Order: sequence, then structure tokens, then C-alpha cells
Amino acid sequence: MRIAVLALQGAFLEHEMMLSKLGIDCFEVRQLEDWQQEKDGLIIPGGESTTQGKLLRDLGLLTPIREAIEGGLPVFGTCAGLILLAREVEGNSPSAPVPPRLATMHTTAARNAYGRQLGSFHVESHFKGIEGDIPMTFIRAPYIKEASEEVEVLSEVDGHIVAARQGNQLVTAFHPELDDDMRVHEYFLKMVKSR
Ligand code: GLN
Repeated sequence: MRIAVLALQGAFLEHEMMLSKLGIDCFEVRQLEDWQQEKDGLIIPGGESTTQGKLLRDLGLLTPIREAIEGGLPVFGTCAGLILLAREVEGNSPSAPVPPRLATMHTTAARNAYGRQLGSFHVESHFKGIEGDIPMTFIRAPYIKEASEEVEVLSEVDGHIVAARQGNQLVTAFHPELDDDMRVHEYFLKMVKSR
């Protein structure tokens, strides 16, 4: 198994370290040439979704990645990755042009939805399919405001959806790569294996 990690900006190294602890081979995607390698899944890290979206477009990666996801490639988006995968986004500046996105998941994401002061916090909470609670670190996080029927809600915190799955697409508003618990990554790897 080989996982592509989008490495344009943000917390990609932490995902690579998590995969390496789990004994999984990965490679970084920084340009179109990298993307052409064989892969079984993709991780889109947290960071700044507007920056990542623009870079994806400028590097010619937006369409090929979108097509691969639509073709069934398993993808795991954390935080900014959740925003890049969402079909609709609220919370962008109304005066700026809409930042490019993959928009493959039938969700509406609310960006920076907890406000600047409350943007970073930590909780332990339930995640459907994983026993007990898992640690969840939120950093200026979004949440999913609306999700269509085909989206399975995996976790809610304070009444907001913070983890969800739609077929081959998994997203979390929090950063499992920043905590020691590896079970959300394992959950994703199971999706990759059962493809
Ligand atoms: N606030 C960021 C955005 O809108 C996401 C934050 C994160 O990925 N930690 O892109």
C-alpha cells in the first residue's frame, strides 16, 4: 500500500510521521509529476484551504485529483482538507473571489466557524466505528454545517459535525495527526484496504 500526501502547505509532515509509525509507505505530492505515481489513497492535510486551493489550481492538480476521487480513490481530508473537499463553503470573505476547491463531497463546510478566539481547543469524544473516545485537537477549525443523505456522520462535538464519510471520502475537522492515537488513520487505511 502506498499513500500520497498532499504537501503544498500545512501539516503534511505530521501525517507522514503517523503513516510511518503504522508502517505505511507514502510519498509527497508537490507537483503534477508526483501525482502520476501509483497510489492507493490520498491525504489532504490541515493548513490554509485558500492557499492550498490556489496552489492546486496553479499547479494543474485540481482536476486530476478531483477525477481520481470521483473515480473512487480513497481520500482523507483533515481540517483545511475538509474545506477543500466540501461542495459548499461558508465563511469566505465576500469581497474576495471564491477560492478553488475539489468540491467532491456533498457537504457545506463552515470555515473558522468557532471564531478566532475559540479557534483552538482539545476534547475527547466519540467517533463512530472506534471504541471509546478519541483525542480531537481543533485549530481554527471548520465544521460541517450541512450534509446530504449519502454522507455518514461519524462524530459530533457541541452539536456540530466534526467527522464524516461519504463512500471513499473521509474528513475530520480536527487533527488526528497531532495526537498519539492512531485509530483515525487506521480507520482510513481500512477504507483503503477494502476498496
Ligand atoms: N482555518 C483554516 C482554513 O480555513 C483551516 C485550519 C486548519 O486546517 N487547521 O483553511
